[in-house]
Amino acid sequence: MPKPELIREPREWQERCLAARETGARLALVPTMGYLHEGHLSLAREARRRAGPRGLALATIFVNPTQFGPSEDLARYPSDLDGDLAKCASAGVDWLLAPERPEQVFPPGYQTWVEVAEASQGLCGARRPGHFKGVATIVAKLLNLTRPHVALFGEKDWQQLQVIRALVRDLDFGVEVVGMPIVREPDGLALSSRNAYLSPGERTRALALSSALFEARDRAARGERDATALAAGALRRLAEAQVRVDYVEVVHPETLRPVARAEPGSVMLLAAFVGRTRLIDNVRLP
Ligand code: AMP
Repeated sequence: MPKPELIREPREWQERCLAARETGARLALVPTMGYLHEGHLSLAREARRRAGPRGLALATIFVNPTQFGPSEDLARYPSDLDGDLAKCASAGVDWLLAPERPEQVFPPGYQTWVEVAEASQGLCGARRPGHFKGVATIVAKLLNLTRPHVALFGEKDWQQLQVIRALVRDLDFGVEVVGMPIVREPDGLALSSRNAYLSPGERTRALALSSALFEARDRAARGERDATALAAGALRRLAEAQVRVDYVEVVHPETLRPVARAEPGSVMLLAAFVGRTRLIDNVRLP
């Protein structure tokens, strides 16, 4: 597979995407922060499929500083552009936007922010103040720069997906938002660029996240509907693995409001620190 065309300048990207759109090409966009893994590539392959033979599968790599808090991992976020280009090629990505410097996206004097009020509350929104403001703003910018017909996001970041759905609906972006299932390692760990931070011992302990969720899913399948009981089981499992819990909650899948009874479709979400590394995961309850 040929390597995707690498574009560094957002302006050039915008001009080329607009020109392609005017020829009638279908544009499918996958925004990422790079250090790509199979989770990202499942989105990219679906983008290629949805763009069709005459359309364009488009990916972006930008480690967006505005979605990181001051004490978070922006400075050490992993990157590997050559590896990412090869992976994008294998997934059929046509063009890749990868700005070299944050100022290309947020130049001096930048002052416009997008806030999605309700979906950004609670869960990661409560634990990472300003995070979803940064996410909503960069996604709005990438959608304006690209004007895709369809944009793909992973369910791994469930709250982010709901924030983006609200953003697109409320501001009439006119793009189809597609949520894609979580891709996991064979042992259950959800793929994440941040897994690269884990030592071998931490990698083993990190399995507590998915196993806590799977256990809750199995208990719900056997009839346990009490959200507090389901969350308590998950907390026990995480404590056993000496994982520091940030939150465990059972919520309505779209409003993200906590529920007392887990109905079919409710989502259990959790965030936890394995050593210094903060990981998130979630599961739909049956
Ligand atoms: P990131 O590079 O972490 O910002 O992720 C870019 C996109 O890939 C987001 O839409 C994520 O939800 C999605 N993604 C990340 N990890 C996974 C995974 N394990 N399975 C499916 N999608 C994922």
